[in-house]
Amino acid sequence: MQDRHHPVGWHRPLTTSPGWLQPLRAGRIASRYRLVPDVGSVGVCVVRAVVTGGAGFLGSHLCERLLDDGVQVVAFDNLLTGSSGNIAHLLDRPGFSFVEQDVTEHLDVPGDVDQVLHFASPASPVDYLEHPIETMKVGSLGTLNALGLAKAKGARFLLASTSETYGDPQVHPQPETYWGHVNPVGPRSVYDEAKRFGEALTTAYRSFHGVDTAIVRIFNTYGPRMRPRDGRAIPTFITQALAGEPLTIAGDGLQTRSVCYVSDLVEGLVRLLRSDHAGPVNIGNPVEMTILEIAHLVQELTGTDSGITMVERPQDDPHVRRPDITLARELLGWEAQVGAREGIARTVAWFRAQAPAGVR
Ligand code: NAD
Repeated sequence: MQDRHHPVGWHRPLTTSPGWLQPLRAGRIASRYRLVPDVGSVGVCVVRAVVTGGAGFLGSHLCERLLDDGVQVVAFDNLLTGSSGNIAHLLDRPGFSFVEQDVTEHLDVPGDVDQVLHFASPASPVDYLEHPIETMKVGSLGTLNALGLAKAKGARFLLASTSETYGDPQVHPQPETYWGHVNPVGPRSVYDEAKRFGEALTTAYRSFHGVDTAIVRIFNTYGPRMRPRDGRAIPTFITQALAGEPLTIAGDGLQTRSVCYVSDLVEGLVRLLRSDHAGPVNIGNPVEMTILEIAHLVQELTGTDSGITMVERPQDDPHVRRPDITLARELLGWEAQVGAREGIARTVAWFRAQAPAGVR
């Protein structure tokens, strides 16, 4: 039995029992997959989206939002930096399916696809320094495959690009017209240049193949489902604070970031996806804070006084970062709604709920 949307051998089993992923990671066993019911009704137009990196921090929130909006979602992820736990609550939802696959390999998606959202890529400095070649491959071959899928299906394509395309910026705040200041042979270049290549490739597919593309430049985003020690400031500070450890700050802590809560980011992504704008469009919260201010806020919200330790600042770490969101305001009517105090409090609450008793 087979239909064009849900071929046999293609879906995860509808179970969330602990450890179900382990045997599948060791080797793909076709008999462990089974059909799920098709939620699309005859005569009803159902939008179908493919999300690469769907088991990651942002990807999982995006899948959840799309499902809430009645969109069918096929998530691809090889779990390099993501987790099956991020999508465990989605597996039973009608219209959701997950494919464990490296998107640098050909993407085979039977049936119609209306939207392709390319979010697969290590994103934290710790992750992309640990996986430099994988980062460049997913930014290049992965983007090529995702664009190829969008072209073949006539789908709208959304590339998750980044404020890192601006590098260590010499223009502040950063508008989309700024070309950036990136060291092409520095340690961060594997990420920055992969994303810049992805933007160029996306633009070429738009101009040469006529694919309906959009590019979003995401500024630092945080929230539930970030890994405790993925190297990004907010989850690292919260984890350290809850464990009673000193918060580690790189350099003097006077470098700035503009941090966006995940629900705000997802709203901006969805608005861009459903528009006909090509971008690039900055999506981020323009309220700029020093890393030291963020650390003090985490200490206050966790009620910890474990102190702060200064560590060496990584090479090419940007000094300042703040999006100019004029374009997002004008084109999408979007701006962030959740302030840092509220967003970090929500994130602390989520981390507390995950932490073993005794470290709360
Ligand atoms: P994340 O690491 O949590 O998620 C990335 C996901 O991509 C992971 O689940 C990982 O397993 C998957 N992945 C990586 N390589 C893959 C491959 N070859 N095939 C299949 N899956 C692969 O990171 P995130 O913060 O959720 O970032 C998601 C996207 O958003 C990334 O493209 C990132 O560059 C972009 N972005 C994020 C931020 C941010 O602040 N979170 C800022 C700018 C851009």
